[in-house]
Amino acid sequence: MWIDSHCHIDKPDFNEDRRQMLDRAADAGIDAMVVVAASDTIEGVTKTVRFAESHPNCFASIGCHPHHSSSADDKWWPALKTLALESHAVVAIGETGLDYFYDKVPREKQRDVFIAQINLANELKLPLVCHIRDAHFDAFDIFASLPVPQLIIHCFTGTSDDAEKYLELGAYISFSGIVTFKNSHELRKAAAMVPTAKLLLETDCPYLAPIPKRGKRNEPSFLPHTAEVIAKERGMSIEALAASSKEATIRAFGLPR
Ligand SMILES: [Zn+2]
Ligand SMILES: [Zn+2]
Repeated sequence: MWIDSHCHIDKPDFNEDRRQMLDRAADAGIDAMVVVAASDTIEGVTKTVRFAESHPNCFASIGCHPHHSSSADDKWWPALKTLALESHAVVAIGETGLDYFYDKVPREKQRDVFIAQINLANELKLPLVCHIRDAHFDAFDIFASLPVPQLIIHCFTGTSDDAEKYLELGAYISFSGIVTFKNSHELRKAAAMVPTAKLLLETDCPYLAPIPKRGKRNEPSFLPHTAEVIAKERGMSIEALAASSKEATIRAFGLPR
């Protein structure tokens, strides 16, 4: 019924009860999950690929998170390319992007590492999972200067105007549990205006559990809570949103049916 388009279920947070967590996901109607690498080493990224290969209905996205940009040297890009070409589980590059909220790495370095992964996605003809936080202006600047791969804007937290600009670039836009938070009025407006063909859902677990699970460790089985809020905001049924978001996710990542 659902696809969790962005999760980190290979993290140690799930070591104690991974089997049960996956059972709960299956019970909640989660048919597939895109497991996104978030490591500062190539070995860590490789582990995410192996995880996806050894778990049914799991796919991998590989890249260098903006928080880890200072670890990325020139060895990263050929290594990611080899992983993408060798493993059928790899469906995207990322997450990559710009995070000016946490600003953990100098912005110039974040931009360089982001551009390297835009180029890699273009070369491999894979979609690019983008993490853009408080940096939409710079992201649009970069996209205006380069060929733009198929973009997936993960955990979107911008305004309706930002969403509009990403849509003009052909992007898919993915919403997380943040959309359920009390103060997320602007974000709910954006979630209401994105065309169904472009709207994806994600947990980004173990982070960002939706209301009523806020504050707990997030997991894929919580995805329907986020979907419920978006369906209500859009005035569509939960079944229709399940069908459209699943179809959009299959198209965005080129997943097998
Ligand atoms: Zn992210
Ligand atoms: Zn993530």
